[in-house]
Amino acid sequence: MKAVVTGGAGFIGSHLCDHLVAQGHEVIALDDLSTGSRANLAQLSGDSAFELVTGSVLDAPLVADVIAECDTVFHLAAAVGVHTIVDKPLQSLRTNLHGTEIVVEAAVARGARFLVASTSEVYGKNDSPGLTEDADRVLGSPLKSRWSYAAAKGLDELVAYVHGRQTGLPCVITRFFNIVGPRQTGRYGMVVPRFVSQALAGDPITVHGEGTQRRCFGSVADVVPAMVRLLDTPAAHHTAVNLGGLEEVSIKGLADRVIALTGSPSPIHYVSYADAYGEGYEDMQRRMPDTTRARELIGYEPRHRLDDIISTVVEHQ
Ligand code: NAD
Repeated sequence: MKAVVTGGAGFIGSHLCDHLVAQGHEVIALDDLSTGSRANLAQLSGDSAFELVTGSVLDAPLVADVIAECDTVFHLAAAVGVHTIVDKPLQSLRTNLHGTEIVVEAAVARGARFLVASTSEVYGKNDSPGLTEDADRVLGSPLKSRWSYAAAKGLDELVAYVHGRQTGLPCVITRFFNIVGPRQTGRYGMVVPRFVSQALAGDPITVHGEGTQRRCFGSVADVVPAMVRLLDTPAAHHTAVNLGGLEEVSIKGLADRVIALTGSPSPIHYVSYADAYGEGYEDMQRRMPDTTRARELIGYEPRHRLDDIISTVVEHQ
């Protein structure tokens, strides 16, 4: 395989580059380094099977050039992080929607198969346990404060789906649910690395809201091989697949586990959503994937438990 990973200098993208190179594939990462970094790819520098191209997915000629030599495209580049999305909704809409259009069109022109990274946010304000991939749930009622991210990702799915169907090129949409691991930064609002750095520094752990909201955190080490297997599995083509963990925890419970695993003296401080993100911010009380489809397609079973996931993040901070 000769693959392009857009967003390859980011958290999930850099692990995907590691995995692909380790499997003997050639990889080009295309990244504008807005939230990603060269440091995430330091382990691959000097490897003849790997190249980092710095630039934006909004630069159509560059994207076409990079994809021209490849047979597979993993499109992960996106404006991410709650602060970016809430503070700059139009910018995230542009990157996430127009960027995907450019990347998918270049993949189609090249005849390359493609995977598009989507998100549980497309399920909108939906607290039901075990969200399945039913199409009628998508964008039913997006959270108002994060509409630009959810709407763009929902439309990205459609762009990928339509192009994949019309050309017959293999195309997979993965919907990630709170993926965590080394190299994820807490700078853009991601809760696990933020809690871990606060705990290691002995600073107060800042829980947004009441801490009763529940999440399932998935390991990047489970998700990355699953992405590759899905593209290799014809039954997974032209479909959306949830990927994430299945162990549910409240955010207050997560803070307690981080404190216990780091032996930190940090107290927990509660910060209102309005103080953390501004008036009008909304969040879901519960977000939990149903991963039956991934299990049936590729035997996906999340192997890493929450405590392992937190411990790995602690080790790499
Ligand atoms: P990340 O911020 O680490 O990765 C995104 C990468 O895209 C960064 O390296 C950034 O520099 C790059 N990028 C942003 N705009 C770009 C542009 N215009 N051109 C080129 N590169 C650009 O975040 P991540 O968590 O690794 O997310 C990867 C993908 O997975 C994203 O599409 C995100 O929406 C999706 N996702 C992640 C999660 C999660 O839990 N981490 C959940 C749902 C969806």
